[in-house]
Amino acid sequence: MTRVGYIGLGTMGRPMAENLLADGYDPTVFDLRDEAVEALESQGANGAADVGEVAENAAIIFLSLPSPPVVEDVVAELKPALTPGSVVVDLSTSMPSVTEGIADELAEGGVDVLGAPVTGGRPGATDGTLTVMVGGEESALDQCRPVMESFANDIIHIGESPGDGDAVKLLRNYIAFVQYIAASEAVLLGQKSGLDPEPLLDVLDSADALGEPTSIFLPKKIEGEYDLGFGLGLMEKDLKLLTQYGEDNDAPLMLGNAVRQIVGYGTSDLGKDADNGKLHQYLKEMIHREDA
Ligand code: NAD
Repeated sequence: MTRVGYIGLGTMGRPMAENLLADGYDPTVFDLRDEAVEALESQGANGAADVGEVAENAAIIFLSLPSPPVVEDVVAELKPALTPGSVVVDLSTSMPSVTEGIADELAEGGVDVLGAPVTGGRPGATDGTLTVMVGGEESALDQCRPVMESFANDIIHIGESPGDGDAVKLLRNYIAFVQYIAASEAVLLGQKSGLDPEPLLDVLDSADALGEPTSIFLPKKIEGEYDLGFGLGLMEKDLKLLTQYGEDNDAPLMLGNAVRQIVGYGTSDLGKDADNGKLHQYLKEMIHREDA
């Protein structure tokens, strides 16, 4: 069976590694947090002392890390221990140029890189139903696809350039985040004017006007179930990458920059570790200010 490794056992990484275990793989895992490694070890995974030990024991190494600089640091540590023919699959939401940079660097040693960000959140990672948007060589994806099927339903090859998956993920998040802010403001304004939010949400859903933010997230936010497993720090990071990606391509994103500022103010107020669901409450305090 293919020898696999997994680095970054947080909200997304831990359930994905558990799905690899459930499918009979014998992953070698590492995280800076000892307790995250121990939790996987207790389920049968091989805990590594450092990222080099993961590289020594795996032909396919998955990364699920908080930001592009962390990905670059981990890849720099991995590089001396990687063997030719192995593949590094970065599942983090990262920057196209960063993924292309690490791909160029590792190509010298005969190692392929796939930029493979995911969507579906913690529920998709737990149920093994994620969508993966893959940039990189099709042959490397063919090698990894059977393993990725342990945690993903849809594995979409976006293009041959390793950063192509990241580009699509940032654009997908742009739409989702703008819709979230717009839907949140719309429902709060409706409530303030005396509307019952439930039929409003029913109409928005039946008209399929907004999709994900209303059908999945907003009802939970209105009910006060704020732990959606995606921190404001990550949302802010994705918007920073998106607007930088827009600048890099000489494309001003007016809504994208406005949403980045709203999320930035919310993050300053609530903290990077606060769940992104709390943004609805933050907007409520502004929009419903006389009764907040
Ligand atoms: P997280 O913060 O829960 O997990 C990141 C993990 O990486 C942590 O366990 C941390 O200890 C570990 N880590 C940090 N630096 C490390 C290093 N140098 N070496 C080894 N381990 C290190 O984040 P998450 O929510 O799991 O997100 C991971 C990635 O997936 C991010 O890029 C995020 O944008 C993306 N993503 C998250 C979600 C979500 O719903 N949470 C959805 C889709 C994509």
